[in-house]
Amino acid sequence: MEIKIELTKNPKPKPDQTKLGFGKYMTDHMFIMPYDEGKGWHSPRIVPYAPIPLDPSAMCLHYGQEVFEGLKAYRTEDGRILLFRPDKNMARLNSSNERMCIPLIDEEFAVEAIKSLVKVDADWIPTEPGTSLYIRPFIIAIDPKLGVHPAEHLLFIIILSPVGAYYPEGINPVRIYVENKYVRAVRGGTGYVKTAGNYAASLKAQSEAEKIKYTQVLWLDGVERKYIEEVGTMNVFFKIDDEIITPSLDGATLPGVTRMSAIELLRDWGYKVTERKISIDEVADAGRNGRLKEAFGTGTAAVISPIGELKYGEEVMIINDYKIGEVSQRLYDELTGIQWGRIPDRFGWTVEVK
Ligand SMILES: *Cc1c(COP(=O)(O)O)cnc(C)c1O
Repeated sequence: MEIKIELTKNPKPKPDQTKLGFGKYMTDHMFIMPYDEGKGWHSPRIVPYAPIPLDPSAMCLHYGQEVFEGLKAYRTEDGRILLFRPDKNMARLNSSNERMCIPLIDEEFAVEAIKSLVKVDADWIPTEPGTSLYIRPFIIAIDPKLGVHPAEHLLFIIILSPVGAYYPEGINPVRIYVENKYVRAVRGGTGYVKTAGNYAASLKAQSEAEKIKYTQVLWLDGVERKYIEEVGTMNVFFKIDDEIITPSLDGATLPGVTRMSAIELLRDWGYKVTERKISIDEVADAGRNGRLKEAFGTGTAAVISPIGELKYGEEVMIINDYKIGEVSQRLYDELTGIQWGRIPDRFGWTVEVK
């Protein structure tokens, strides 16, 4: 399919690169492609960024039939533009689509659509250290109908947002609240899907944790509230003695691209990495016995986020003295080095936008 491009006649002024924050500014263009039953996905276009008309009865507004993705474009020091494993994001988008009764997309075409849009808005990729262009592909159901049924009309849209360095002063350990009242997902549900409803369901726990000065919550499984699943918008890893453990993907945990990359790197470096069930009690015991060496989250936004403190009920576990662990630092340096093209990409993870 050929992507038609209509350029804006009113380019916006670019924001100050030192004050980007996250997701506050949108670029000049967006990609949009409708799906209609009988026609399939068709008429892909890049158009000036603008509000989209939606019927007030559009299904996504009522029943949340929606999926999204999140990845970044990085500007290297020598001016190239890199994407990090976009094929994995598009494969995950299709896995989300399958669960949400959304027609599958052509993954290779979707990567091409991302590349075309990033090329059109290449001037928006910030160049300050640590900054990047966040890419948000998403699909919404737009049938104007209040009956509960899978949609026959949808829109696949991609928008772009220049974002700041997650940690302007370098990586910093965060405080995490172990959530034992609310749950995010259950097996058989949509925990492994990147869909809006999971986030809507998580807001209350997140805002209660923030009120008592915790950055994010650690989610436990929805049945026994015993096994660890993930942290807010990140997957989670624990180093106990010499073993690095991350919860196995059992259907309630989001399969992060950063998680996958961290596992591959750690194994390549010779660490023992285990994907298995791990209970909060096992982590707490390891903390009490001095065997819990490190804990960190992984995700596209922060890359690696060391955990300095876990609060579980009345117990407060301080991890590695609030310092960045050796493994966290090494992963952060390697992943960001590959993403910004500073070090060789031995795994062929980056894709250049030319
Ligand atoms: C997107 C996301 C992650 C991290 O995935 P990455 O592909 O590494 O960015 C983790 N948990 C949740 C709930 C997410 O939505």
